[in-house]
Amino acid sequence: MMSGHWYPGSMSKAMNQLREDLKAIDLVIELLDARIPHSSRNPAFYDLFKHKKHLILLHKADRAENKRTEAWLKYYDSLDAEAMAFSVQGKHYLDQLLKFLKKEEKRIRSGRFKRPLRMIFVGIPNVGKSTLINLFVRKAVTKTGNRPGVTRGKQWIRIMPNMELLDTPGILRPKIDETTVRSLAAVGAIPAGRADIYDAALWLLSCYLEQARSELLKMKYSLCETGPAEAIFEKIGLSQGCLQSEGQVDNERTAALILRDYQNGSLGKLTLEEAPPVN
Ligand code: GDP
Repeated sequence: MMSGHWYPGSMSKAMNQLREDLKAIDLVIELLDARIPHSSRNPAFYDLFKHKKHLILLHKADRAENKRTEAWLKYYDSLDAEAMAFSVQGKHYLDQLLKFLKKEEKRIRSGRFKRPLRMIFVGIPNVGKSTLINLFVRKAVTKTGNRPGVTRGKQWIRIMPNMELLDTPGILRPKIDETTVRSLAAVGAIPAGRADIYDAALWLLSCYLEQARSELLKMKYSLCETGPAEAIFEKIGLSQGCLQSEGQVDNERTAALILRDYQNGSLGKLTLEEAPPVN
């Protein structure tokens, strides 16, 4: 079973660094995985941002179900938390984010300190922080020098005349309880070999079944009928030739194949965690 010690020992150093970086920051953009908004958020860090303007991005929205993403956005709205969906696939997402940033920039500019809006991307590993930074680096106007309060070696990237982004993301440690680890393994947000992938794949299959989306499995793996998750797992192993030398299904290979197909989108869009109900 999964142990909680998969995270590098440098984590507390990273946290101290983030604490330091935040001093110079106006806006924290927290990336969550739109397929697992609950598991990709660690409430242990709420305190860290509590005095900062905060935007939640439900990232990789291209892999999640729109209706469920909308439900999550409504939920954050009910908490008065600002949130929006995002994906690098789809220009409208970037346009919406830029519109938000311009509004924030105006707010900062009209405040006491006439200086650029400074922001940072934060989130658990593999949620897409570097991808987003790179997206902005390509758009960058200039790179600017170091600033006091920010760890040396880091740079501000001026992405618009009055907007600067820290080139190094804030890495947050995920929760490490068993269900979270399973969700993280399902979306591929956990280092290989650190989670029980059989458990994650079975759970993933049960999500397809519970949400009446088994037609996606049938289509992808040419299955005639479905059944309980264990039986489907077995059928997938057989139909995809994931076998051991004695002819039994190879659980590791089958699980890896199912997870890979889910993660690369070839099993269709499926959100694995439902938003809490809003009154
Ligand atoms: P980081 O560890 O948070 O910096 O994450 P990375 O930026 O390295 O991204 C992790 C993986 O997510 C990479 O394989 C990216 O290609 C992928 N990724 C990033 N953004 C998106 C997106 O909008 N949609 C999808 N489907 N994948 C994305």
